[in-house]
Amino acid sequence: MEKILTKNFDKPGSHTLKVYEEGGGYEALRKVLALWTPEQVAAEVKKSNLRGRGGAGFPTGLKWGFVPKDSPKEKYLCVNADEGEPGTFKDRMILERDPHMLLEGAILASYAIGAGKAYIYIRGEFALGGERMETAVSEAYARNYLGPNILGSGFCLDVTVHYGAGAYICGEETALLESIEGKKGWPRIRPPFPAVAGLFRRPTVINNVETLANVPHIINQGAEWFASLGTEKSGGTKLFCISGRVNRPGLYELPLGTPLRRMIEEEAGGVIGGKRIKGVIPGGASCPVLTEKEIDVPMDFDSLARAGSMLGSGAVIVLDEETSMVETLLNLERFFARESCGQCTPCREGTRWFVQVLTRIAKGKGTDGDPDLLLDIADHMAGRTVCPLGDAAAGPVKSFVTKYIQEFLPIS
Ligand code: SF4
Repeated sequence: MEKILTKNFDKPGSHTLKVYEEGGGYEALRKVLALWTPEQVAAEVKKSNLRGRGGAGFPTGLKWGFVPKDSPKEKYLCVNADEGEPGTFKDRMILERDPHMLLEGAILASYAIGAGKAYIYIRGEFALGGERMETAVSEAYARNYLGPNILGSGFCLDVTVHYGAGAYICGEETALLESIEGKKGWPRIRPPFPAVAGLFRRPTVINNVETLANVPHIINQGAEWFASLGTEKSGGTKLFCISGRVNRPGLYELPLGTPLRRMIEEEAGGVIGGKRIKGVIPGGASCPVLTEKEIDVPMDFDSLARAGSMLGSGAVIVLDEETSMVETLLNLERFFARESCGQCTPCREGTRWFVQVLTRIAKGKGTDGDPDLLLDIADHMAGRTVCPLGDAAAGPVKSFVTKYIQEFLPIS
């Protein structure tokens, strides 16, 4: 399969402007600024069926369209590079290996929505990615891909690289906005939505790194080409992060809709030691687990939703027959309990309670009522919190406990 997002990854100096330009970099920007209106860029992205790669899978062109065109307020683009979902490492790889691809996508997106200022919000631990992104921004200013009157077009854009402090919740888009504003990273209640009242209460679009990295390719090769690469409703390829008990863990660029079993057996070389698969988390820590019988599923947004899980960030975590599902779930819930911002009671108390009950079960001191207790707590969290972290913590509990109930009951 033709590589799109990763085609430069293995070239020496792939993060530099020189190598990016040698491969056709910034041609999309030159074309757009010379010939296209912002509306044409937005329409092309809409036609491409590009859906957000941060987890929610919302259509990107539609999201851009929510920004009020007639608003006199300054508009912003925020790039969400705060990748923190356990099992996910794709955005970091783009920052490290091809930061100009992201930057060109961010400039094109800013042009489409009428933003004159963009922030790239980078997870604080991404030292190399942050350094390369900052260098890319400096190189782009020097070449007048950023700054005033870009390439003589009249379009102006300033970009600021802003670092988070490593809190998972700051990857939630409204917490990210609060963090850029210098406040505690607490998610906001919506409405109003960021497209209307986002950063500094002005119209704002927040897009994920991988999402924006696709935009130059859509402009260069056309919406029809991009749409033809994926499924009927999701265009393009996807970066999948395969980890866990497989022979070849790593980052794989594959068409959306690639069957999960094939991905594990062929791309990742199957399970270590030829053991049987017990379960697979298909899209990162917050996605419901699939049993071995459920993994003949195409890896795209809609197919995984029909299978009762999510594509999420595309982080495939493979669990083999020797994996303890109690220990695995305890590990996940410890993470959510630590990362809950504490703003709403069901999430703050529920995640802590999950840890207490699962710790008891893991120590062999669980009771017959513990599985029902876990499910009851999960029911009282899902849909009752300010942001999706409550659902993210409840989803794995429901799927692990119902699908592997024997492991959560006391040994009789
Ligand atoms: Fe904070 Fe959790 Fe509420 Fe989200 S769901 S706002 S992380 S307490």
